Amino acid sequence: MATATSETVKGGAWLIEETDPATVFTPEKLNDEHKLIRQTAVEFIKGEVLPVVERLEKKEWSLNRELLKKCGALGLLGTNIPEEYGGVDLDKIATLIVSESIAGQASFATTFGAQANLTILPIYMFGTEAQRQKYLPGLVSGEMAGAYCLSESGSGSDALGAKTKAMKQPDGSFVLSGEKMWISNGGFADVYIVFAKVDGEHFTAFIVERKWPGVSSGKEEHKLGLHGSSTTPIILQDVKVPADAVLGEIGKGHKVAFNVLNFGRFKLGAMCSGGVKINIAEAAKYAASRKQFNTPIATFGAIKHKLGEMTAREYALESMMYRTAGLIDQRIAASPDKKTGNAAPMLLALEEFAVEASIAKVLGSETVDFAIDENLQIHGGNGFVHEYPPEGHYRDARVNRIFEGTNEINRLLIPGMLMKKAMKGELPLMQAAKALQDEIMSPSMSAPDDADGALSAEARACGAFKKVVLMVAGTAMQRFGTKLEQEQEVLSYLADILIDTYASESAVLRAQDATNRKLSNAELHQDAARVTVNESAGRIELAARNALAAMADGDTLRTQLAALRRLLKITPANTVVMRRRLADAAVAKGSYIF
Ligand SMILES: Cc1cc2nc3c(=O)[nH]c(=O)nc-3n(C[C@H](O)[C@H](O)[C@H](O)COP(=O)(O)OP(=O)(O)OC[C@H]3O[C@@H](n4cnc5c(N)ncnc54)[C@H](O)[C@@H]3O)c2cc1C
Repeated sequence: MATATSETVKGGAWLIEETDPATVFTPEKLNDEHKLIRQTAVEFIKGEVLPVVERLEKKEWSLNRELLKKCGALGLLGTNIPEEYGGVDLDKIATLIVSESIAGQASFATTFGAQANLTILPIYMFGTEAQRQKYLPGLVSGEMAGAYCLSESGSGSDALGAKTKAMKQPDGSFVLSGEKMWISNGGFADVYIVFAKVDGEHFTAFIVERKWPGVSSGKEEHKLGLHGSSTTPIILQDVKVPADAVLGEIGKGHKVAFNVLNFGRFKLGAMCSGGVKINIAEAAKYAASRKQFNTPIATFGAIKHKLGEMTAREYALESMMYRTAGLIDQRIAASPDKKTGNAAPMLLALEEFAVEASIAKVLGSETVDFAIDENLQIHGGNGFVHEYPPEGHYRDARVNRIFEGTNEINRLLIPGMLMKKAMKGELPLMQAAKALQDEIMSPSMSAPDDADGALSAEARACGAFKKVVLMVAGTAMQRFGTKLEQEQEVLSYLADILIDTYASESAVLRAQDATNRKLSNAELHQDAARVTVNESAGRIELAARNALAAMADGDTLRTQLAALRRLLKITPANTVVMRRRLADAAVAKGSYIF
């Protein structure tokens, strides 16, 4: 196998290249260090957090701080931070595992995320040596608590439209004034990453301490869920901030904000993936124990369908998460200037995989909502009652589609960022789209063959999905040119096709690898991958038809739709029996099966 370099490990490359299943990182390839960190995080949540949920929900913030300290002592806050600043410096797979496991309690996961992802990371990635020395040891040990103040009441999605000002003073210091909204950990943090416009113009990040005169937090928001997580406004009233509190460069606050979001979105996807597993376990156990008509409801086909579908969707999400984390790690490892304390390779790798991070965020947040809804439905009336877990999950999870960039914004970013890469010549997307167009016009263009061999038909279907992406993207570029960004519906359809394509291919590659390595549960891997591809094919066809019909008509549209039909002429699989097998295995195990 050729050695990976920063030239060969590229975000979005999966769209135009074939991937060897053996090169893909999967949960079956975890090492002992990964397993240990998972055990540590899971035991922490079960032993320390779940027993005190009621107190957290009563907003006993000193308890959140105590729990952060315990996380710090266990090394969970510093998985990406070098030892010299108190971290444990593990790979991104380990970070993914910690995020998945912390999801065991959603409110605390938000507290944890605001600290580890939104405060520690920007200081490590953009801080000066003095800023790192001053803040990281306290934050990584959990002695200090942090929060990230980007949003304002008038600017959430449009974060760069912030009104908070930082007026430059003759001595080089700044005076900050403004109000930030919906700040997680706002009620108890000591350190805030605050975004403000220098002299009302230059968007800039600052490190601001709560103890500085003029900093205060407003009243706690009464939220739908996440009652154990603090969310407040942060008020800045003429706060004098020293010159050395600027994080990164003046006027480059967007770099801090967007890069933090890149990783934050990936980790949110991981937390959601952890949440899906919890819901599968609860649903499988309940279905096994609840009887109606003198029969456990788990034996009913309608319930098996739900459990099987939840399992297949989690399989695809999880496969995509581990594949992406593996790619980010490969990219960092391939960097020529990789050395301890140099954050640049990580920053560049996260930028490189920003599309995949947005996919993780959208797919993760929508898969967990799907799984919670089905878990609640399997619980029947009990699902609607506070004493049973789905009711709380239902409220807690809803915000995942809103924060870290709404799913609408992320859907626009997914194709938008890919096309930018193409324009910059980093990804030969347009060349591939042109080649496909020539192929489409040729009447000899064939459908993917039905083939023998484990999952070769599904692999071919994934190849066809990629061609659909190219077809829709190419048509959109031709039709709208530079005005494409105004065509949000088409971009959103394209995003949906891209999400299903990346997730399906990730599932197929993992199942092929499991088959090639003769894992004992390889057949269940195959079932999950086949269900994923089958369902994706239907969704992709519909999204592509809608997108194409919005861009062409008459003969052109007819030719395109005929080509689409040929591409997606995929023989449907008997997913009923596959879902039944997946459901039976989940019920027998009382949990997610992979
Ligand atoms: C519990 C909670 C915790 C939070 N924690 C933090 C935190 O720690 N730090 C922080 O800075 N922020 C935080 N936020 C804020 C969060 O990031 C914002 O709420 C989010 O970015 C959306 O912004 P908004 O609420 O202003 O919605 P808006 O931007 O007003 O969006 C409203 C609707 O319009 C859509 N929309 C907006 N612009 C476009 C567009 N250009 N094209 C298409 N559709 C569009 C959106 O998708 C959405 O559906 C938190 C929010 C909540 C609820």
